[in-house]
Amino acid sequence: MRKINKDLISVEEAQKIIFSKFNSLGETKKKLIDSSGYVLAKEIKALFDLPSKNNSAMDGFAVRHEDLEKNKSLKVVGRVGAESITNHVLQKDEAIRIMTGSGIPNGADTVIQFEKTNNNPHKGDDYPDSVIINEMVNKGDNIRLSGMDYKAGETVVNSGMLITPPIIGAIASFGIDEVIVIKKPIVSLISTGNEIVMPGEKLKEGQIFDSNSFAISSAIKNSGADFKMHKILSDNKADVKKLYEDCNQSDLIVTIGGVSKGDFDLIRDAITEKGNISFWGINMKPGKPLAFGQVNLNNKEIFHIGLPGNSVSSYVCFELFIRPILMKMQGIKNIHRKKIVAKIDKEIKNKDGRRAYLRAMVNKDEEKGYLASIYERQDSNIFSSLVYSNGLAICPEEYKVIKSGDQLEVIMLED
Ligand code: AMP
Ligand code: MG
Repeated sequence: MRKINKDLISVEEAQKIIFSKFNSLGETKKKLIDSSGYVLAKEIKALFDLPSKNNSAMDGFAVRHEDLEKNKSLKVVGRVGAESITNHVLQKDEAIRIMTGSGIPNGADTVIQFEKTNNNPHKGDDYPDSVIINEMVNKGDNIRLSGMDYKAGETVVNSGMLITPPIIGAIASFGIDEVIVIKKPIVSLISTGNEIVMPGEKLKEGQIFDSNSFAISSAIKNSGADFKMHKILSDNKADVKKLYEDCNQSDLIVTIGGVSKGDFDLIRDAITEKGNISFWGINMKPGKPLAFGQVNLNNKEIFHIGLPGNSVSSYVCFELFIRPILMKMQGIKNIHRKKIVAKIDKEIKNKDGRRAYLRAMVNKDEEKGYLASIYERQDSNIFSSLVYSNGLAICPEEYKVIKSGDQLEVIMLED
């Protein structure tokens, strides 16, 4: 690392410090229907065999395989729907009309589907007196055995697994409608700046819309966490004193802006007044000014991450430092985005010894592998650079020039 950056810590050091402070949150009960995206806190075991009874995989006739012969007629002695059972024990040369999911009558060992008999499916409760076998089937065909999905007592979902729609379905199969999950973090999100105005309001001269809290709040949502949007704070000392109002129920405080070395950048003072700063300034671009500290609010210690104000800086810092801890708090094991190695399409100069995160659109070529097209404008306020990119190509601190065609690691910003 070159001397000019001696006050800045590396991305890895910053990540190590931040990540070490967060663990998965406590457990909570959740209605199964609302549990998608949560991490399961307690293992779920099969309460019974699934399916619970041998049942038919087809609409057709339950038969004894030894009675089957091509063109032979069997006597139809009853009908069972998916909800009903029959006590009749199938005798020689008998058949029972049966629907998909119906329990297999005692004595039957095979189901022959309608299509292989002279009898077509039809609506209504009646059934023919006899049925002719048009085609043979094998013994045991079209019977779904009890326990073939899950055996009673077997693990259905391990604790620590992310609940997906199929997992919800599997759990519901056992009649369970509530699960124990890891809580989701709530982030207090606060924009700062005299010039910042909420979208939907009227802009006065010199003002700009608060785009960052919109991007960051939806990124929080996409990480599975929740946010609480606070009022925009102006840069005067009196307003900054109100910074932590209504924050003490949150798991993390994130501010946007006011964290550089400008005259109005008061975030660091605010943290120091209520707690202490762990570090300020990371050897990266975009996103050098990032404050990480801890404040004491009504005897509760809460961490505060002060994101830089420039739009791309705040977003890249969210990806590198906040998204992983939101995942960690939810109990998710794999907290990192996928990384790939791609050839870049233009020369890049990186003279100030900082780690650069270049916005790039990555495509996969059948023969050439991953190709990263580096977005033309890489300034820290260029939102379009993120809109038209799906990855962050990492240019290491010590590389002054990267040539077109060289390979760089890329963090993929999409799942
Ligand atoms: P600051 O770190 O407060 O000096 O902000 C750096 C730059 O980012 C300034 O040009 C701000 O106007 C801009 N900025 C700060 N906060 C936001 C925000 N929430 N939305 C859009 N731009 C912002
Ligand atoms: Mg500001």
